[in-house]
Amino acid sequence: MAFTPHHVTETSPRGSSAEFDVERIRRDFPALAQKVHGKPLVYLDNAATSQKPQAVIEAEEHFYRRDCSNIHRGVHELSERATKSYEDARVKAQRFVNAPDSKEIIFVRGATEAINLVAGTFGRKYVQAGDEILITAMEHHSNIVPWQILCEEKGAKLRVAPINDRGELLLAEYEKLLGPKTRLAALVHVSNVLGTINPVREMVESAHRKGIPVLLDGAQAAPHLKVDVQDLDCEFYAFSGHKLYGPTGIGVLYGKAEVLDAMPPYQGGGDMISSVTFEKTIYNSLPYKFEAGTSNIAGGIGLGAAVDYLNGIGMESIAAYEDELLAYATEEISRIPGLRIIGTAEKKAGVISFVMEGIHPHDVGTILDQEGIAVRTGHHCAQPLMERFGIPATTRASLALYNTKREIDTLVMGIQKVKELLG
Ligand SMILES: *Cc1c(COP(=O)(O)O)cnc(C)c1O
Repeated sequence: MAFTPHHVTETSPRGSSAEFDVERIRRDFPALAQKVHGKPLVYLDNAATSQKPQAVIEAEEHFYRRDCSNIHRGVHELSERATKSYEDARVKAQRFVNAPDSKEIIFVRGATEAINLVAGTFGRKYVQAGDEILITAMEHHSNIVPWQILCEEKGAKLRVAPINDRGELLLAEYEKLLGPKTRLAALVHVSNVLGTINPVREMVESAHRKGIPVLLDGAQAAPHLKVDVQDLDCEFYAFSGHKLYGPTGIGVLYGKAEVLDAMPPYQGGGDMISSVTFEKTIYNSLPYKFEAGTSNIAGGIGLGAAVDYLNGIGMESIAAYEDELLAYATEEISRIPGLRIIGTAEKKAGVISFVMEGIHPHDVGTILDQEGIAVRTGHHCAQPLMERFGIPATTRASLALYNTKREIDTLVMGIQKVKELLG
């Protein structure tokens, strides 16, 4: 079953040359127009998940209302429509990260499953006792625990590249840790807690000089930056649909074809085989070899719509707008006495984590919620990183393309209120 989509239907709401009109963009997101506790919603929890534009909601709905059927095996009209939409979405994801071929785009549940897939296949095949996996001190649990499980099973060792107090990776230390026993470097592109944008292109280059393959965790990068996997030259790139204005339960693992081809399959089942007898099973070709069972078809189609939506605005415009918003928010928030921003790297994406003297982040979050402001508080799935900064938790405001300076002002007023009540 070699399905090659020829005509990818793209639905762009506006030309990419159009200037960035945030009020118009906000109208594309129905969830933003609501009140919470009687106040207009200020949604600043985008690093956990982002809101969805109408186009994404409609794409999923269209599938369920009209095209719902299983893909790849059907000869009937509905199945052909569903297969085409799903495979079109794969091509959209391919172009979104500039992958050379759509067979290098594996649909998974999200970044977590993408990383577990690599640990469970690449890791199972290539990692042995005494080998090492290198990560950084700013990884999400999703890029720590799968490697710990693998290391425990194989008797391998997890090594961690350290960071400085601003939350920047110590590159010289990282390079020293790339050794003859390193089988893979698994590195976060953008930190979900600190906002740090790592110099991943250089980091891939130094790993490659020593023949070490690299996986990049792009869960926080894909929604905010233009990602080009050919330019990065990484072996693997993982991201989630739901942080990219797409549905939950769908994500992408990009892998270089020759690397994926050499890997054993992930799960066994339907669609990942080309023939089965009780004696021997022949696996399907890429990408289907890694997609056992019925996929999240509606989710894939929704992700395709999210990519169209972003392309309609342009990732460069989005990054530029968010940079400006981050600069404004950083300036306004750091003016508040008794507040300390955690993560002050020179290169940052739209994440502001902070702690307040004598006030627990959980209380900050609860009071902000009463003001209609959604932020996240806690360890943000990065407990070792909290430990590195000697704090149990932070409050995190994370930005998306639909946030405004006015919302930042509301956040600042909310934080002032927290201080009045608890300071
Ligand atoms: C959210 C996140 C993940 C996990 O993504 P899921 O969508 O929960 O699978 C991994 N890494 C980073 C940096 C994240 O922010």
